[in-house]
Amino acid sequence: MVSSNLAHAATVKPRPTDLELVALNGMFDEKDGLSVLRHALNEDISPNSIAMVSSFGADSSVLLHMVAQINPHQEVLFLETGKHFAETLEYVEMMKKHLGLTNVRFLEPDTKDVERFDAKGDLWQTDPDSCCHIRKTEPLDAALKNYGGWVTGRKRFQTNDRGVLPHFELTTDDRIKVNPLAYWDNDDVKAYREAHDLPAHPLFLKGYLSIGCAPCTSMVKDGEDPRSGRWRGKDKTECGIHFDVSGKIANPGAELEQSQMNLFKDGAFIADNWRDLQEDEALNDLHHVHIPLSVYVDNKSEVDAQQGAVGILLQAGDDVDALGENAKRFASIVVEFPAFTDGRGYSYARLLRERYDYTGELRARGDILTDQVPYFQRCGFDALTVGNAATRKALEENDLGEVSIFMQPIGASAEVPVGTRPFLRRAK
Ligand code: SF4
Repeated sequence: MVSSNLAHAATVKPRPTDLELVALNGMFDEKDGLSVLRHALNEDISPNSIAMVSSFGADSSVLLHMVAQINPHQEVLFLETGKHFAETLEYVEMMKKHLGLTNVRFLEPDTKDVERFDAKGDLWQTDPDSCCHIRKTEPLDAALKNYGGWVTGRKRFQTNDRGVLPHFELTTDDRIKVNPLAYWDNDDVKAYREAHDLPAHPLFLKGYLSIGCAPCTSMVKDGEDPRSGRWRGKDKTECGIHFDVSGKIANPGAELEQSQMNLFKDGAFIADNWRDLQEDEALNDLHHVHIPLSVYVDNKSEVDAQQGAVGILLQAGDDVDALGENAKRFASIVVEFPAFTDGRGYSYARLLRERYDYTGELRARGDILTDQVPYFQRCGFDALTVGNAATRKALEENDLGEVSIFMQPIGASAEVPVGTRPFLRRAK
């Protein structure tokens, strides 16, 4: 059945650019979840409509109540993993009646996948990432195929990984995740539930503060993090449906070779979902493509009109001032280091960060040697494309030296470069 939510898809505008998304996030008060949700479901923020997904867990009643106020016939997707508590399935039915929700759709795993990978039903124990993949990620991906994004109940306070969660975020496959409760805490949820007299999940009353599948959920003791009862004792905090396509979640259908995970960022090697513009490639419908500066300069209006995330490739000899303030329009800038002895890229980085206030991703690329890494970081690079095996090992083991000698200070730092004579230092 085709969702009625898709009916107007053909007439809507393209999904927002990165800058439009920043503006969108600025439109709403931090705690005004209802307005965020209404905007996501009623306005054309994406080429296709935004899906509503609910776990019918401990905190779900708040978003479900908001949806019922906006449109009780809104399709609500529920992942029926086959591993839920009986109480959760009862709660789904109870909430449907209580809120008058008419269109809750169950998403079930592919029976062939379950037979093939989890015939004994114990995959949650032996390989929980794969279990979540076949029971959650794949069914959700299939259901979301025609949607421009989806609504989640995630909140900033829940885990460290979620600490910077915005209301609207772009995924690397150009969809939008909407988090109306991003800024809410437990007190906000409790107050809303009480104000609207919302029924609690039966297990919440028994001490389950975050409720997922039965085998992977345990009670939480007083003072424990509410999510500590999920996958207790396992090195896992998310089910995978919330990771981006470049994230770290295991994907049995598309396992990446280690050599493909060559982008070092935020302390780990991850898959690189960007590529360089090909010679003679048309400048349309580009997504996650680094465009040489010279091509940008010659085709500025075409590049600026791109809706997808685009970046700039700076090569040795390029004039960074030709990019100037326009740098802020780009999600990523990659700087080529053609040789160990070529230091021009360091200057490019500092110009971008210090003169042009560029805050996006800034990556260094080339045959990067271990000794260079601290200097890259010092100049403002926050990502490295690493091919050199020794450098890779040093990064994996966090075995990097510190910068103790330098010839130039950075930014507004009070550092004194080596060789500077005291009488030549500026008076403060
Ligand atoms: S939460 Fe547990 S049982 Fe549910 S899909 Fe993930 S690993 Fe499997």
